[in-house]
Amino acid sequence: MWRNRYKAQNPSVSKEKEEFACVNCQAAASTTYKKYSEDVIRLTECEKCHELVDKYIEYDVVLVVIDLMLQYVQAYRHLLLNVKIERPERLFVIFWLSHAAEVWMRDKTGAQFGQVADQEWMFYRCLLLSAVEICSFVVTILLFSLWKKKETTQSTWQIIGSTLLGYYGNVAVVISFIFNLSHETSYQVVMQIFLLVSHVQVQRVLFPTVSSTDNIIVVLTAKLISTTTGSLLTAAVL
Ligand SMILES: [Zn+2]
Repeated sequence: MWRNRYKAQNPSVSKEKEEFACVNCQAAASTTYKKYSEDVIRLTECEKCHELVDKYIEYDVVLVVIDLMLQYVQAYRHLLLNVKIERPERLFVIFWLSHAAEVWMRDKTGAQFGQVADQEWMFYRCLLLSAVEICSFVVTILLFSLWKKKETTQSTWQIIGSTLLGYYGNVAVVISFIFNLSHETSYQVVMQIFLLVSHVQVQRVLFPTVSSTDNIIVVLTAKLISTTTGSLLTAAVL
């Protein structure tokens, strides 16, 4: 499990220093564990807070996902700072399709009972609208990162990737289809709150020295810009 899921690490190689981060205090760490033999592995202790640098190394993926859903910022630090996700673009496509399904549910009109051509147009319309909404959200976060350049150690691509991962809650749309919850206002409100909290947690990891209030304001602003852009596009051309 360690070999496949996590970033490669070799404590003896000094140039890999500070590649990882403590999930508790986000201090830089050179390793998350030390391997003494094939079966003996010892998790590294953080030099700053003296807790384990990354307790999630030992956790099963399902438990990590549960902690993410419970919005533990430690789980977000583990995922965004210590895990190397293989081919993340596959995940982004899933989140994009899920987001498009959300948009489709939100804007559902009589066209669903129309001709096949109408339904096909609606599908492309939702995909385009969803892409525009996600892009405007990411661009807002990028503009903020340019303004607060000194508050983050992450590269532009890492910020884009992490912000896109903040959309993972959209996959719950599958559950809403199964249990026919798509029209329930309570479900939509809970989903929107969940996504906003996820984005705030991602922001806290990307900009650890920025106050939580500022991070919340940035996420709310990005959400507002994203929704407004989507509405303007709908009114203008769709
Ligand atoms: Zn620490």
